Amino acid sequence: MTGISIAVATGNQHKLQEIAAILGLPLESMYSSRSFAGFEDPAEDGQTFEDNAGIKARALAHFIKSKHPDHEFWLSSGPKWVIADDSGLEVDALGGKPGIHSARFASDELGIEGNSPDSSNNEKLVRLLKETPDGNRQARFVCVIAAISALDTELAVTTFRGHCPGRISDSPSGSHGFGYDPLFIPGGYKLSLAELGEEIKSKISHRSKALEGLKSHLAAAI
Ligand code: IMP
Repeated sequence: MTGISIAVATGNQHKLQEIAAILGLPLESMYSSRSFAGFEDPAEDGQTFEDNAGIKARALAHFIKSKHPDHEFWLSSGPKWVIADDSGLEVDALGGKPGIHSARFASDELGIEGNSPDSSNNEKLVRLLKETPDGNRQARFVCVIAAISALDTELAVTTFRGHCPGRISDSPSGSHGFGYDPLFIPGGYKLSLAELGEEIKSKISHRSKALEGLKSHLAAAI
C-alpha cells in the first residue's frame, strides 16, 4: 500500500502509531485530527459502535473537505482515507453494558459530565459483578473502525468490527494498558491484559482485528 494517506479522527498520538504499525504504513502518511485546525470532536450520540465510529469519520471528512480543501492530505495524489474508531467492553451478565458508554461508565455515580476515570469504571464493574459466579463472567472488547474514501463524493462509510472475547476477574491486576485491561482476562489466558502486556495484546486485541479488516479493504481498493 504505497502512496496512501490516512486522516484519523483522534488526537491521540499513541493510537495513531498503533494504527500505522498494524496497517504497515509510515507514520508520515498518517494525519491526526490535530493536523486540521479548528476540528472539534462531534457528540457521540449514536446507539451502536458503528453509529459512533461513522459519526466521527464523517465529521472529520466533511470538516477537511470544507475547511481544509488545500491541505496536503486532501491534495495528495495517492488514495486517501478518513477513518475513526469506537470501542468498548460488553459484559454478558450486565446485558452488554457498559458497551458504547464504557468511557463514562461511572460518570453518573460521580456526578460528572463526560468520561470517568478508569479506576472508577473498574471499581463500578467489580461491584456490579460481586455476586456473579465464575462461570457467568463472559465479556468481550469490541472495536469498530469506520472508513471513508476521500475520493467518494458521497463520503459513504464502510465499517470493520473486531472482537476480543474473555471474562471479567473479581479484582484488578497488572499495570500495563489502560481502561478495563486490569480486569479483563482474554480467552485462553489466565492473566489479565494489564499483566500480559502490549506485545500479546497487539496480537489478540479487538482493535488489531478491526484494523486487519480495514487493511484488507484498503489493499483491495488500491
Ligand atoms: P474509545 O473508543 O477509545 O473512546 O474507548 C472507549 C472506552 O472503552 C475506553 O475509555 C475504555 O474504557 C474502553 N476500552 C476500549 N478499548 C479498550 C482496551 O483495549 N482496553 C481497555 N479498555 C478499553
